Amino acid sequence: MTIPEFDIINTYFNKSMDANSNVILGIGDDAAIVSVPDDQELILSIDTLISGVHFPADTAPADIAHKALAVNLSDLAAMGATPKWVTLALTLPDAKEKWLREFSDGFFALANRYNVKLIGGDLTRGPLSMSIQAQGFIPKGLALRRDGAQPGDLIYVTNTLGDAGFALQHYQQKALPQTMLDKFYRPEPRIHIGEKLRGIANAAIDISDGLAADLGHILKRSNVGATINVATLPLSEAILASLERDEAIQLALTAGDDYELCFTVPENKTDELTQVMQNEFYTCVGTITSTKKLDLHFDNGKKYVLKTAGYQHF
Ligand code: ADP
Ligand code: MG
Repeated sequence: MTIPEFDIINTYFNKSMDANSNVILGIGDDAAIVSVPDDQELILSIDTLISGVHFPADTAPADIAHKALAVNLSDLAAMGATPKWVTLALTLPDAKEKWLREFSDGFFALANRYNVKLIGGDLTRGPLSMSIQAQGFIPKGLALRRDGAQPGDLIYVTNTLGDAGFALQHYQQKALPQTMLDKFYRPEPRIHIGEKLRGIANAAIDISDGLAADLGHILKRSNVGATINVATLPLSEAILASLERDEAIQLALTAGDDYELCFTVPENKTDELTQVMQNEFYTCVGTITSTKKLDLHFDNGKKYVLKTAGYQHF
């Protein structure tokens, strides 16, 4: 590396901690020390992003950092957790100051917004990739798991679906609407929504591989089925300006990278949901059933047939 490793860490990754961060010892020792309050559980998640697989190789460093952190925070959001700390294992082909500065700026812009502290990591040389482990708190017993959905629950999703998938297919045409590019390069982890769903949602997941696949994980873990009216799927104006509704529906169901939340709520808690979600954009798209199948249909009951499944690495 052209810059000594110690200088890279100190210049670009070692930021000061405030007293509320539950960090006893941050960057600089062999490991970090943190404290967990007695009434909370610790939620942990890790995700790896590889250049050319999870983001185009020419993605701006600030966008790479944002996305790497956002997808990890999205997993905590899907558990209903409040993120506290992250560790970052970064593999770089070389150490360029401009790249590091932009990456660091993008990383801390998002981290600071959610008051998340970088407490350690690792730095290695190799093809560009990064693993981030995110850790957060949830009051004991309140985590939103995949295995809690019950027949009769209503199924909801946040915001619109399919935009990131559309952007991925067409990002080389620079004329894409900014809202769509942002959905792909700068997904917003729905942390505040996850927190609001504690004690209300029976199950939740973040949508990283398309609604059909990710709702499928809830169904499998909960041993239930679902019926989805595809006409109710929330689609952006931008996507409907570019695609026929049927194609947009296909993307919403199967395209990855949206990082919206899908969650299920029992009927007797829908009033409470309306209360806490007053300022949020979310849509009811179906119902959990006892059939153990995912049934997709239009308004008139006609069956909708999926053309492809969600993205799978293997
Ligand atoms: P070790 O050889 O003991 O693994 P390192 O030299 O890898 O130690 O790291 C020294 C310190 O810097 C550790 O506290 C580690 O957590 C931190 N660190 C290393 N790389 C990063 C990084 N990319 N981001 C944040 N902290 C880092
Ligand atoms: Mg190390």
